[in-house]
Parts: sequence; structure tokens; C-alpha cells
Amino acid sequence: MLILVVNCGSSSIKYKLMDMEQETVLLSGLSERIGIAGSRIKQESHKGEKLVLEQDLPNHKVALEAILKCITDPKYGAISDISEIKAVGHRVVHGGEKFNKSVVIDEELIHVLEEMSELAPLHNPPNIVGIKTCQELMPHAAQVAVFDTAFHAAMPKHAYTYAIPYEYYEKYKIRRYGFHGTSHKFVSHRAAEILGKSVKELKIIVCHLGNGSSISAVSNGTSVDTTMGFTPLPGLPMGTRTGDIDPAIIPFLMEKENLSVSEINNVLNKKSGVLGVSGISSDFRDLEEAAEQGNERAELALSMFAYAIIKYVGAYTAALGGLDALVFTGGIGENSKDMRARVLKGLAYTGLQIDEEKNNTRGKEVIISKPGAPFVAMVIPTNEELMIARETKELVQ
Ligand code: AMP
Repeated sequence: MLILVVNCGSSSIKYKLMDMEQETVLLSGLSERIGIAGSRIKQESHKGEKLVLEQDLPNHKVALEAILKCITDPKYGAISDISEIKAVGHRVVHGGEKFNKSVVIDEELIHVLEEMSELAPLHNPPNIVGIKTCQELMPHAAQVAVFDTAFHAAMPKHAYTYAIPYEYYEKYKIRRYGFHGTSHKFVSHRAAEILGKSVKELKIIVCHLGNGSSISAVSNGTSVDTTMGFTPLPGLPMGTRTGDIDPAIIPFLMEKENLSVSEINNVLNKKSGVLGVSGISSDFRDLEEAAEQGNERAELALSMFAYAIIKYVGAYTAALGGLDALVFTGGIGENSKDMRARVLKGLAYTGLQIDEEKNNTRGKEVIISKPGAPFVAMVIPTNEELMIARETKELVQ
């Protein structure tokens, strides 16, 4: 069964065509700068054929039409006819309270997603455009929505409720939702496979560390708490997002700096995090290099990030009532041996010792704690597209 996985952002579309018989990737691609000058599509097939198409892509519909042509291109594509694709799995960022699992998309669902766009104004609208366009261009294929929030939907009420007047929860659905759910699910379930145990009998903490970072506490195969909240802003300090801050800072800054709501939102989302603290970069490679050369603010940003992880691992071990596995994933979690070492050294009080040699790897599944540790520390590269394709296949079969 051929499944196309589509991830529509505001100005980009990532896609992967997968053959689900053996779970192989036939091709993957990225359409960038949609609606902006210099738009293009980059695609690579499993045979290593690389295609770069520089073309005006004024909107998502034109971009998706061009993507379908690239997929069926006689030289660079992987299939001869688009009707070979049986289903499309869409990444949808916000499923609100309504969706605790993936669903086959129908007209009513699109209507519900449109209503929910208020909760994710940057993300859900392009997701909906992607769904509608695929329905139009591929009427033969089933369309499935896989939500970033779904894996966290079973969090207990005491974990998702904010201590604000309860009427705001009832009126506006203000609560913790959590994000990166597809990654947290994939990685925690894979950890159980690697450990040869059922995910239902394990207590797992997943650290998804990338441009956006979040940690989840997983018990009985489902998320019971997570660091992101009503929006993807709280929790760990991120590339450009604040993570946890005292909410009183917001009105204080708005008054002092005479900032509007959209200006303060811009500061919190785009100018903060490790970029804001270091004044150098949001990219951890740049920060590690600068810190090595003695830049104090780069070092401060890195230690703040590691400290926040260590603190949450402690908190979530308590929330879970113990810990069997601590998993690193995401661009930083998979690639930065330095960040993993900082975190594990901060957890030495538990008796865990890092295996420096095993930790000296990038982007591979590996156990990085020494035998005899109170819990296993490991690296598992995430694969959100595979998870989306699996859930899509399960629903359409
Ligand atoms: P993601 O959002 O998961 O794609 O992660 C992107 C982030 O991973 C980048 O911003 C980098 O900070 C980080 N990253 C990628 N490779 C490395 C590396 N070798 N060392 C440290 N950080 C890395």
C-alpha cells in the first residue's frame, strides 16, 4: 500500500511517499518559500535521484500540484500514476480536546478543524489547506489526520488543568494540550521494542530536543504529562521560544517597552530562548562552537537548557513513580553528544553512569548508559512520517 505523508506549514510542504508493505521510503521532498519569491521543490528518490525544481509557487494548491508532478516524473519520480497512492496522511498540529487519536477526514472534520484554528492560528490553517487540496487533487485516496496533540490527550485532569479561573477552561478550553505527540509516541514505543518489553509495563521519559523542544512522561504506553502546554511555548527554553517564564513578565515588558500583543508574541516566540540569551544563534551547533571558544552567554544558554532538562527529568520521575528509560531524540537529542553528556552528568546522583564511547555517536539507535544503571538512557532517532504512515494505514485498511 502506497501512502503519501504530507506536512503543510505556512510557507512549506514536506512530503514522503512510503510503501507500507516493507515500510520503505520511495521518495521524500520539500517545497519551500510558498507564496514568496524564490520558491522551489527539492526531492530525492530512494534510488538517489535528486530533483530541484525552481518554480513560482504562489499558494499551497499550486505547490501540491507541482509536488504530484514531481512524484510521477518519469526520471525523478517513484510512481507512474497518482492513483497508485491509496491514502494521504496529514500531520495536523492541533486536535483540541476532541481528537485523542487519528481519524479519517470527512467534511464535518474539516469544519471542526476550522473552528479549532483559533487554538493554533499559525499551524492549523495551512494544514486545512493541504487537506482540502489533496481531496481535490486525489479524490480516489483516503485522507487521514494525525494530530500532534493526540498522544497527550489522555493526560490526567490534574496534569492538564491550569490554576486560572475554571470558567476560562470551560469558555475557551484553556488547558495543557502538549505537542510533538507523534514523535513522543513513536520514540517511546520504539524504546519498548528495543528493550524487549511491552510499552505498557514501562515508565519512560522522552526528551524531544530540536528547534522546538518538549519532554513527556509516558506510562502505560501513553503520555501522562508534557512540558508544552496550551501552545508550544512553555517548558524547556528553545531555539527562539522562551520555555517557562513568570507570566507576570509579559504585562511588565509590554508596559515598559510599549509593546502590542503581536509585538510581545514576537519577542516570546521568535527572539527568546537560546537565541535571546546568547545573542548569537538559535542553532545548538553554533552555540557549542561559541561556548568552546569561551563565549560566556553561549555557555549560559547551553547550561540553562541542560538544567531545565535535568529538572524536568527529576519532576517526571516523581510523576511516574520511577523511571525505566530516558530517551533522547530530535535534532539535538540525536546529534549532540555534548548536550546528552551534560544532562546525564546532572543525573549522576541516581547512580547512572554515561558510556562515553557509546555516547560518541550521531543519529543512531544506541544505549548510552553503562550496565547496572537504575534506568536505561538511550538515543532513538524519531520518525514522525513513519508513525503518520502507520496510523494512516491502520485506519484505511
Ligand atoms: P530539529 O528541529 O529536530 O530538526 O532540530 C534542529 C536542531 O538540531 C538545530 O537547530 C540544531 O541546533 C540541532 N543540531 C543538529 N545537529 C546537531 C549537532 N551535530 N550538534 C548539536 N546540535 C545539532
